[in-house]
Amino acid sequence: MDHLNRLHELFRQFPGIGPRQAKRFVYFLLGTTDGFRNTLAKEITELASRVTLCVSCFRFFDRKNSKASLCSVCSDDSRDVISLMLVARDVDLDAVEKSKVYNGYYFVLGNQLSLIEPEPESKIRTKELTRIIEKRVKDGLKEIILALSLNSEGEHTREFVEGIISPLVKKHSLKVSILGRGLSTGTELEYSDTETIKNALDGRKEEVIM
Ligand SMILES: [Zn+2]
Repeated sequence: MDHLNRLHELFRQFPGIGPRQAKRFVYFLLGTTDGFRNTLAKEITELASRVTLCVSCFRFFDRKNSKASLCSVCSDDSRDVISLMLVARDVDLDAVEKSKVYNGYYFVLGNQLSLIEPEPESKIRTKELTRIIEKRVKDGLKEIILALSLNSEGEHTREFVEGIISPLVKKHSLKVSILGRGLSTGTELEYSDTETIKNALDGRKEEVIM
């Protein structure tokens, strides 16, 4: 395979990128400067060494020093210990954090589940989630907020996660709530604005866990 095709195949593996878009990326790069391509290559190379997974919320963060293991949210003692918000992906956490309407802690599940997912356990950080909930309970956790998108995948993910956390919720008498209808049906949290996220959080309703 020649260089053009190799790069084309790599771009095709990106989420949501088809063969034509992948080809456009390749030709875009060919039309840019050496400086741009070198910067891009350098940033990609350094991604793994500079960005790491937070050991508490499991989001990716840029560590300022090589010893940091907690992201800026998890290392902030002024956050409210009583609530833990579960989101599907980093982009959802970023959206809520940017809105500045929530002051508790987070946990990134890792994925949304499709309705036909054969191995949901491999897509969602279930072991890490139960471990973190146990730890946060000791610090004063009272409420788990399920902040999942209001589409079929979000619903499916919510049901699966409720099954996982159910024993802990009962054991520690935790409150579980889901975001209210401030988010309209089909809405992706990722694309929601501050006002929408605020309404959804204010209007969250308690979920009865079986
Ligand atoms: Zn964190």
